[in-house]
Amino acid sequence: MTRLAFFDTKNYDKNWFDRLKQDYDVEIQYFESKLNENSVLLAKGFDVVCAFVNDHVDEAVIKGLIDDGVKLVAMRCAGYNNVDFKTAFGKIHVVRVPAYSPYAVAEHAMALLLSSVRHIHHSYVRTREFNFSLNSLVGFDLHGKVIGIVGTGRIGRVFNDLCKGFGMKVLAYDPFPNPDFDGEYCSFDELCQRSDIISLHCPLTPDSQHLVDKEAIARMKNGVVILNTSRGGLVDSEALLEGIKSKKIGAAALDVYEEEGDIFYEDRSNTILEDDTLMLLISMPNVLVTSHQAFLTDEALHNIAETTLGNIKQFRDGLVMDNEICYHCATCKREPGKRCF
Ligand code: NAD
Repeated sequence: MTRLAFFDTKNYDKNWFDRLKQDYDVEIQYFESKLNENSVLLAKGFDVVCAFVNDHVDEAVIKGLIDDGVKLVAMRCAGYNNVDFKTAFGKIHVVRVPAYSPYAVAEHAMALLLSSVRHIHHSYVRTREFNFSLNSLVGFDLHGKVIGIVGTGRIGRVFNDLCKGFGMKVLAYDPFPNPDFDGEYCSFDELCQRSDIISLHCPLTPDSQHLVDKEAIARMKNGVVILNTSRGGLVDSEALLEGIKSKKIGAAALDVYEEEGDIFYEDRSNTILEDDTLMLLISMPNVLVTSHQAFLTDEALHNIAETTLGNIKQFRDGLVMDNEICYHCATCKREPGKRCF
C-alpha cells in the first residue's frame, strides 16, 4: 500500500480520489494546508505527496520532502511553474496530469467571453433585484470578429473549434506551430495588432512571463477583450489595470491572477483583501474574475484522480512513468523505456 500525503484538499478532490483509491492500492491522508515550507513536515513518513497549482514546491520544500523520505511529487494539474525542477532532479521524481479535459478549460474560456461581451454577470444581478432595464448592456456579436489564440496546444485547439463554431476568424501565435492547427499563424506582435479578442492558452515559463505587458497592450486594438484562463503570470496585472483605466482595453475576463496563490480557492468574504490591484480589477464593470475554476468539471476531476493514481502506481511498480517531467524535459534526452533519472 502506497502512503500519499494530499495537500490543499478540497471536498471535490476527496470525492473523486476516495472513489478510486482502492483500485490503485493507495492510502491517502488529506491535509487542507497548502504545501509550503511550514507544512512540509506533515509529509514525513509518506511515500508520495500530491500537490496542486498554488502549492509551493520550491527549493526549500523539495529539500524538506527529500529529508522526509518522500520519493515522488504527484502534481494533480497540467501546469508546473510552481515546481523547482532543478533542485528535484536526480533526487525526487515529479509527475503531472498533462491533460484531463481540454474541453473544461476551453468551454470556461468561452463562457467567460460570452458573459463578458453580453454582460450576463450584470444582467443576473439586476434581474434578481427586479431591475429589468437594458441600459449599458449593449454587447457585440462574436460572429465575424478576429480572435487571437496564444498557444495552440490541447486547450488552444479545442478553443479554436469553439470559436470557429461562432463564426470568428482565428489568428494564432505559438513558437512551436502545430501543422494540424486549423487557423492562420502569425507573430505575437501581429496577433496583438489584428485581434478584437485575445485568449491565452500557453504555459507560464521564463519566456512567457508578462507576455501581455504595457508594450503588448499598446500594440493592441482599442477596445480589445483579453481572456486569461492559463496562468496569471502571463499578464502584467498593473499594465492590465492601466489599460482598463485608460479604456484601451474594452474588457478582461480572468480565471487566473498572478498573485492568486494566497487568495484564490478560499472564502475571503469576511476579510480585507490586501491586494489593491486585484481589488481594483474586480471593481471594474468590464472585468470578470473567476477563481481558477476552469478545470472544475466532473469529467476533469475524474480524469485528474485516475491519472494521478495511475502515475503513482507506475512509480510503485518501478515502471516508466508516462507523465514524468524533469529539469531537462524541454530538451529531453530520455531514452525510450527509461525514467528521467
Ligand atoms: P499544451 O502543452 O497542450 O499546449 C501549450 C501550447 O503553448 C503548446 O503548443 C506550446 O508550444 C505553446 N507555447 C509554449 N510557450 C509559448 C509562448 N511563449 N507563447 C505562445 N505559445 C506557447 O497545454 P494545454 O493543455 O493546452 O494547457 C495550456 C495551459 O493552460 C497550461 O499550461 C496551464 O497553464 C493552463 N491551464 C489552466 C487551467 C485552469 O483551470 N485555468 C487548467 C489546465 C491548464
